[in-house]
Amino acid sequence: MCGIFGIFNHSEASNIAYLGLHSLQHRGQESAGMVSTDGYSVYSHREMGLVSDIFDEPTLEKLRGNAAIGHVRYSTAGSSDIKNAQPFLVEYAKGPLAIAHNGNLTNAKIIRDELQNYGSIFQSNMDTEVIVHLIALSHENSTLERLISALRRVEGSYSLLLLTDKEMIAVRDPYGFRPLVLGKLKDSFVVASETCAFDLVEASYLREIEPGEILHITKDGARSFKPLKKAAPRFCIFEYIYFARPDSDVFGRTVYGVRKAFGRELAKESAIDADLVIPIPDSGISAAIGYAQATGIPFEMGLIRNHYVGRTFIEPKESIRHFGVKLKLNADHETVRGKKIVVVDDSIVRATTGRKIIKMLRQQGAKEIHFRVTSPPTQFPCFYGIDTPSRSELIASSHEVEEINTYMTSDTLEYLSIDGMKRAIGNGADSFSYNFCDACFSGHYPLRFPWGMELEQMELFVQDKK
Ligand code: AMP
Repeated sequence: MCGIFGIFNHSEASNIAYLGLHSLQHRGQESAGMVSTDGYSVYSHREMGLVSDIFDEPTLEKLRGNAAIGHVRYSTAGSSDIKNAQPFLVEYAKGPLAIAHNGNLTNAKIIRDELQNYGSIFQSNMDTEVIVHLIALSHENSTLERLISALRRVEGSYSLLLLTDKEMIAVRDPYGFRPLVLGKLKDSFVVASETCAFDLVEASYLREIEPGEILHITKDGARSFKPLKKAAPRFCIFEYIYFARPDSDVFGRTVYGVRKAFGRELAKESAIDADLVIPIPDSGISAAIGYAQATGIPFEMGLIRNHYVGRTFIEPKESIRHFGVKLKLNADHETVRGKKIVVVDDSIVRATTGRKIIKMLRQQGAKEIHFRVTSPPTQFPCFYGIDTPSRSELIASSHEVEEINTYMTSDTLEYLSIDGMKRAIGNGADSFSYNFCDACFSGHYPLRFPWGMELEQMELFVQDKK
């Protein structure tokens, strides 16, 4: 869970990158950073926190030059620490090199152990750092060739941006797990995790960076290469379900449109007679609109969100019921009292949010609560960049739907089926090419960790996070 943005050949590169990162803030709120270049030197700024808090005018003025890459981070690999904030910047034999990564490398631990045995000293516990070491160790000449030889060794998910004092390079792994798009802003190229970043900076959307593509951008223009071993694309389905912003075009469709289609499919599969459809904001809103439109049941915002929730809050000694969820959401009693309600959310992880919200709604007088989830049960962890916990923490990995319903205290609970999810993505078509990774629902991992390394590898990812 991270967002990346890059711009090449723009007189206000860092200002534009700052706006781009702000649009991608939903992809990571832990830390943010930027590296820029004026063709001679590189300039860097990274901090823990939100984009709007980290960058101010003096900071952006110091990020000089006409090219910049930036990153917003939510840690899925490496601890929540400033040393793991990106872009990761090094000075090596060929000069400065910065890298920003969205994804998870599944063989990072093996490569790291091997390099450490040869004496390499790592500065972070991020998987991304192995790419930098492999580039530095390569015998090839140019950064591009060195990068290609490094990428031939790594496996997993990676959408990358690299910056030197001469070039910007965008890469998407052969499976295309995470999104990455290319745009144009007058004479400059822009690259971002999602198109919503282009809308803010008024760049035009050209196309996706294709799975397995390396785009080399210099003052002479952009050149595309596909030197990596081909794979059948496996786009992350969870980008549609939860992660991406609804106003982005991802994998060829708007996220908002796909989420509404999830809601419509769910309505077909598990319609129920009710007075209201209410979403859990913000994640359930688009799908709840689809569910309400398909069933004709009125849509209401029965839960109101407080948008100013920080990381931790001190609870008073006399405990408050549903404290955690109440900080973020509150029910409108006039809307919900005496009503049969369909509550829509995008997914259930541990079921704590749903359980607390149901209690809150009942407290405010709701008569019946029918919980509808616009994805299939999340049963398996993600190794490709979404922070889905281990199997033991995923309630659906060890409990049947009826047991989860009992735990949540809903009157009924229904999930979208895997087939319904596929139909929604295919725009209702029965046959279309389904190029998605749905391992979190199906357990079908397109790319496994090297045999027996899952636990060890995940330990590298979650060190110090506990
Ligand atoms: P839980 O209370 O653990 O069942 O969490 C469910 C809520 O978490 C849902 O409202 C989802 O929108 C949200 N969610 C799903 N996946 C993730 C994730 N990987 N990181 C953060 N939130 C998530």
